[in-house]
Amino acid sequence: MIIAIDGPAGSGKSTTSKLVAKKLGIAHLDTGSMYRAVTAYFIDNNYSIKNADIDAIMKFIDIEISNEVVFLNGEDVTNKLRDQKVSSLVSDISSLQKVRSKMVELQRKISLNKSIVIDGRDIGTVVFPGAEFKFFITASIEARASRRFDELKTLNPDITLDGILKQIERRDHYDSTRANSPLKKALDAIIIDTTRLSIDEQVNMILETINNKQ
Ligand code: C5P
Repeated sequence: MIIAIDGPAGSGKSTTSKLVAKKLGIAHLDTGSMYRAVTAYFIDNNYSIKNADIDAIMKFIDIEISNEVVFLNGEDVTNKLRDQKVSSLVSDISSLQKVRSKMVELQRKISLNKSIVIDGRDIGTVVFPGAEFKFFITASIEARASRRFDELKTLNPDITLDGILKQIERRDHYDSTRANSPLKKALDAIIIDTTRLSIDEQVNMILETINNKQ
């Protein structure tokens, strides 16, 4: 069984997906963390999007995820994924078709022969258009920025709510207007607006839908 959960930055989809997977006793894959890992790799190696041989780089990259710990070519990169540098660059990297093809290939490989909750931007539209369940989680920009700010402020004392709001707006714009697999609700996805919902309420809504359909 594939449960696809898409939505914009800060909508709560990764936290919700993780908890839904835990309640159902199945696997979870946060595909945003994969694009973030590739971005961290570009930053660490000083690769420029304009000049680098993206084909060669992607051939060399392998990503494994175990218990939410992300390994890129065997190295644990989890701690780098929420860096502001990574967050600022990730939408540029994820717009590259060669990066996306490799990530989609890995996502399908990781999900092979298992039940999984998989969250991202293009899961219900491109990665698993035939998923048994599709949800599109959204929330007001203010709610999303304030959640991200609360999540990041202890780690990054320099960030401001306004700075996070602008970054999320920019990422949403890039992610939904790019030519390759833009952030888009699948026609058959169920919309959940989480602006006024707690994480528990989001999780329960999804679980109820799944249990009612099975
Ligand atoms: O979900 P998260 O905010 O961590 O995702 C980081 C970025 O990765 C997104 O802004 C988007 O550019 C990219 N992404 C994507 N496709 C996915 C998941 C994430 O393009 N399936």
